[in-house]
Amino acid sequence: MRETVTSTHCPYCALQCGMNLTPAADGRSVEVSERADFPVNRGALCGKGRTAPAVLSSAVRLTSPLVRSAAGTLEPASWEEALDRIAEGVGGARAEHGADAVGVFGGGGLTNEKAYALGKFARVVLGTSQIDYNGRFCMSSAAAAGGRAFGLDRGLPFPLEDIPRTGCVILVGSNPAETMPPALRYFTELKENGGTLIVVDPRRTRTAEQADLHLAPRPGTDLALALGLLHLVVAEGLTDEEYIRERTTGWEDTRAAAMAHWPEYVERITGVPVPQLREAVRMFCEPEHAMVLTARGPEQQSKGTDTVSAWINLALATGRPGRPLSGYGCLTGQGNGQGGREHGQKADQLPGYRKLTDPAARAHVAEVWGVDPDSLPGPGRSAYELLDALGTDIRALLLMGSNPVVSAPRAAHVEERIRSLDFLAVCDVVLSETAELADVVLPVTQWAEETGTTTNLEGRVLLRRRAVSPPPGVRSDLEVLHELAARLGGEGSPEKRFPADPEEVFEELRRASAGGPADYSGITYRRLAEENGVFWPCPSPAEPAEPSEPAEPSEPAEAAVHPGTPRLFLDRFATEDGRARFVPVSHRAVAEEPDEEYPVLLTTGRVVAQYQSGAQTRRVDELNAAAPGPFVELHPRLAQRLGAAEGDPVAVVSRRGRAVAPARITTSIRPDTVFMPFHWAGEGRANSLTNPALDPTSRMPEFKACAVRLEAVRP
Ligand code: SF4
Repeated sequence: MRETVTSTHCPYCALQCGMNLTPAADGRSVEVSERADFPVNRGALCGKGRTAPAVLSSAVRLTSPLVRSAAGTLEPASWEEALDRIAEGVGGARAEHGADAVGVFGGGGLTNEKAYALGKFARVVLGTSQIDYNGRFCMSSAAAAGGRAFGLDRGLPFPLEDIPRTGCVILVGSNPAETMPPALRYFTELKENGGTLIVVDPRRTRTAEQADLHLAPRPGTDLALALGLLHLVVAEGLTDEEYIRERTTGWEDTRAAAMAHWPEYVERITGVPVPQLREAVRMFCEPEHAMVLTARGPEQQSKGTDTVSAWINLALATGRPGRPLSGYGCLTGQGNGQGGREHGQKADQLPGYRKLTDPAARAHVAEVWGVDPDSLPGPGRSAYELLDALGTDIRALLLMGSNPVVSAPRAAHVEERIRSLDFLAVCDVVLSETAELADVVLPVTQWAEETGTTTNLEGRVLLRRRAVSPPPGVRSDLEVLHELAARLGGEGSPEKRFPADPEEVFEELRRASAGGPADYSGITYRRLAEENGVFWPCPSPAEPAEPSEPAEPSEPAEAAVHPGTPRLFLDRFATEDGRARFVPVSHRAVAEEPDEEYPVLLTTGRVVAQYQSGAQTRRVDELNAAAPGPFVELHPRLAQRLGAAEGDPVAVVSRRGRAVAPARITTSIRPDTVFMPFHWAGEGRANSLTNPALDPTSRMPEFKACAVRLEAVRP
C-alpha cells in the first residue's frame, strides 16, 4: 500500500522546521501534521508553516504561462510560446548588447539544486557575469565578517541544541519570537537551565521581553556598543589571554581600537547607559560558556560587516569561538539562506562556496561542467547594483524566487529600473508585484510539489520531499532551465547538462562542491533521508578530510562514510594558519543621520504572521487576519508631537519616497525611532523609504536605519 504521509520541511524560514504532509481528498492540497522526529523544531510550527498548504491550492495560483500581448496585458499562453518568447527576449539582448546585457536574479528560498543550476545556467548558457540574488539583502554582512575572522562562513558553527547548554547568549538584532517562533524555546530552555539572555534591539520586541537584560541602542550604533563592551572587558581584565595567544592573530590593533571607545563615549553614541554596559559584560564573562548570535539588525547596515566583526572580536577576546557550547553564530533568515549562498547564484561565487576569482576553483568547476575554464565570466554586480543597472547596461532579466519590487531598498527606483528593461521573465507561483511587470511569467512548482535539498541555519543539509502532484500546467524551475538551455545554449545539446531531475542535479552539485569550503560530496539523498540531515562539510570517502569531532547525533550509514560536521573550529579555524583573525574596527555613523528636515530614524523588520515580501503569505487568509497590513510603530511622545492617535494614517517620508500606514503607538520603541514591517506593496511599502547605501565589503544595503520625517495625514 502506498505511504501517504510524507516527512518534509517548511517552505519558509531558515529554521526549516520538519513537518508531515498528508494529501487531502481533493488530491491537490495537503494537510500538515506534527513531525516530532526532526530535532530542530520537535514538532512545533509557527502559523506560517501550519498554513503553508493554503498557497498550493490558492485561487490566485498561477497555472498557465502568461505572455504580454500587443495590447500590453498579460495573457495565458502555451509553454512552447512562453519559452520561445524568453529565448527571443534574452537571446536578442545578448546578440545586440553582449552577454553581460542579460541579468539573472535568484533567491535565498531556492533549493540547493535550483541555486546551483541557476548559477551554472548564467555562466555556461548565457555567459553572463551579471547574476546575484536576494540573499545579498539577508546575511551577506555576517558571511563576509565570518569569512574574514574564521576563514569560513557557516551561519551557526554549532547546532541549535547547544544554546540551552551555554551560560549566556548575547542576541544582537534578532527577534526569533516573531521571525522563527519554534526557535524561541532554545532561549527559554537556556534560562530554565540557569543561563542568561541579553537582547540588543532598539525595540522592546517579544524576544527582548524575555531577556534578562535588554540593551536598546539607537539604530545603526551597535558597532559602537560592541566596542564599548570590549573596552570594559579589557579594562576589567576579563580577556582570555591564553586563547588570544594560542588561537588568534591581530589582537593588538583590535585592542587599541576598543580602548578608544570609552564607555561614556559609547553611551553618548548608543544611548545605552554605562551601568547596563557593565552588567552585560558581567553576565557575558562570568560563565564558562557563552555565545554571541547576530541577525539582520547589525548586518543590514552600510557598515554591517564591520559591525559583525566588532561582535566577533568580543567573542574572540573572551575565548569563545571554537570551544564547546560557545562561540559566534549568525541566525540566517531565508529558507535556504545558507545553501543558497554556497552554490553559485552569488555574483562572485562558484559551487561549494568557491571563489570565482580562484583559478583552481574555476578549473575544478569547469571540468565538472564540461567547459573551458576561460569561458567562465568573472564576478558581476551585487544585488542592488545589478537592479540599479537594469535598463541601462542590463537589458534583459531572468528572475526566479524573488520579488524585488517589494523587498529591494529604494523600491520605487528599483521598480522604475525594472520597468525600463527591454525584457523581463519571472518564474513564480503567484503573480507577485514583480511578476506583474514581466513580459513572460512562468508558473512553477512549490515546496510540497517538488523534491530538493535545503541547508538550514545550522549548516544541516535537509531533504524536502514531494508530497503532492503540481497542478496541470505547472513546471519546476529545473525544467524551465532545462528547456531554456536547449533554446539558448547553442551547439552540443547543452540541455543534457541541465537535468530536470533534482537528484541528478544534486549528484552533479556533489562533484562540483568536492574539495570546496562547503563540501557536499559525501552527502546523498539516501543519507539525508536516513539521517534526518547531514551537516557540511561532508567530503566523500574518496576525498577524506579530518572532521572536527566524532559523528553526532547520528551514525554514518556506512563505516567509510564521513559523518558530517555539526561543530566547526574545535581544533582549528579554517584560515591558512588555523587561527581566528581579529579585525580592528571603529564606530562610524549611519549613512544618513537624522537632521532638521528628516529628524527621525526609520528601522524595518518583520512580523510573525508574514514572510519576507509576502508574495506567498499575503495569499493566506489566516495570516492576513493576523497581520492585515503595514503600520508605523512610534513612541507616544512622537505621536503626541505629530498629533496622531492609534490607527491614524501617518506618512513617513525619506529622501527616496513616501509611505503611509496606520500609527501603532507603543512605549516599546525608542522616541527617536519608528519601525515599519516590509512585507507589503502599495502606499505602505516600507522599502519605498530605505537607503541603498552599501556596505563596502558585503554590498549589503542599509535597511536598518535611514532618516525620515513624519507627517500627519488629514482626511
Ligand atoms: S519557524 Fe520558520 S520554518 Fe518553522 S514553521 Fe515557521 S516559518 Fe516555517
